[in-house]
Amino acid sequence: MRAAAEKIVIKLQQAGFETYFAGGCVRDRLRGVEPHDYDVATAARPDAVEALFPGRSDLVGKSFGVVRVRVQDATVEVATFRQDGLYLDGRRPSEVTFTSAEEDAKRRDFTVNALFCDPVSDRIVDFVGGRADLEKKLLRAVGDPAKRFGEDRLRLLRGVRLASTLGFEIEPETWSALRRAAPQIGQVSAERVREELSKWLCGQGSERGLDLLDASGLLVVLLPEVAAMKGVEQPPQFHPEGDVFVHTRLMLSLMESPSETLAWAVLLHDIGKPPTRRVDETGRPRFNGHETVGGRMAEKMLMRLRFSNEKTEAICAMVANHMTFKDAPQMRLSTLKKLLARPTFDEELELHRLDCLGSHGQTEIYDFLKTKLAEMPAEAVRPDPFVRGGDLLAAGLAPGPRVGELLRQAYDLQLEGKISCREEGLGWVDGLGLPAAAGGGAA
Ligand code: ATP
Ligand code: MG
Repeated sequence: MRAAAEKIVIKLQQAGFETYFAGGCVRDRLRGVEPHDYDVATAARPDAVEALFPGRSDLVGKSFGVVRVRVQDATVEVATFRQDGLYLDGRRPSEVTFTSAEEDAKRRDFTVNALFCDPVSDRIVDFVGGRADLEKKLLRAVGDPAKRFGEDRLRLLRGVRLASTLGFEIEPETWSALRRAAPQIGQVSAERVREELSKWLCGQGSERGLDLLDASGLLVVLLPEVAAMKGVEQPPQFHPEGDVFVHTRLMLSLMESPSETLAWAVLLHDIGKPPTRRVDETGRPRFNGHETVGGRMAEKMLMRLRFSNEKTEAICAMVANHMTFKDAPQMRLSTLKKLLARPTFDEELELHRLDCLGSHGQTEIYDFLKTKLAEMPAEAVRPDPFVRGGDLLAAGLAPGPRVGELLRQAYDLQLEGKISCREEGLGWVDGLGLPAAAGGGAA
């Protein structure tokens, strides 16, 4: 990836254009972290870039001056130095103009994101004091923070996300401007918000990011259901760590490179607790049905954030199912096998482990399920059914809901080991005493 990006820089430089690596990749290399992608910034106009890489480049947005160039197996975004025009709606510049490297640095969001690097000489080009801030681990808006946040409100969320994943402090003036602008975050499109929230949630230090979201005022606007978990007390014998918010925060801190679906399931697993909380006769708080209520709440939230149906379903299923794990040791074999066969089981098991570690700390059920999982291979928990619909119809059953019911019974018996081959399955069908199918079979 780096080699491919370097080739592109060299070719543009040789054609006479000032060209650098820019943004996140420069920041990350200086932090000693391998960049996940390389962005190139150049004085060359988009048509000049296209002319230098014929057949290997696509214009992404002519008005934004970005050309995607393919070299070897990598794709690198090459952007012409630009200056953003007026922001009329707090979301997008009305136009861009092509300018110098310095102006391009100044339109970027934070000083540590505004560095350039010439990969040939390894020289850093810094117009905004980004290097000093990087050394101080400080996130500072480029220019006047209030103005910059006003131009593009997504920068509020990027600020919190970057401070959280990079482990940086937010510079005081940047922070106070961020807090003042937070109530306006609602103007940003759901897709852009979701992308940033997922990067925060899946990245390092997400628990500190949660605190920053909360303290900035962004949380109550974007995820009020999560903010509502604050101060919701739980029984101390099960939750010595504290209230529902503290518990969730602790789980975030325990996640290890989670997938997007797992991370959201962790964040949302107990959002059903605030609205279901009741205190029983003995004075103990109860949250009956919180997983079901939480699953429905999660669905609304994820739809609001425009998650795909597939991810929404997976996350909601994890939320709605998270309480069944405590019953695993008492489950009938067929129920246990069906739990193990769930498409989201691995992630659900990890959610369960984090739930335990983020509260009482006991992991017997996790250990029990790990053992069962090792004992029972995929064929054992999700075998092909011995009895099929056609067998029931051939035995004289009319098509209808009863077919599905009987197939489920047969499959449960198979999972229990009570039907252990197809012959036994057909014997079980015979034993049902269904009326012989018209015209089918012997007298
Ligand atoms: P990541 O590690 O998440 O990729 P990044 O800083 O590279 O972090 P990108 O979204 O890839 O983030 O953006 C690349 C660069 O473009 C940033 O480093 C920053 O200079 C600039 N940038 C991105 N979004 C904005 C924005 N909303 N306003 C101003 N500059 C931005
Ligand atoms: Mg990037």
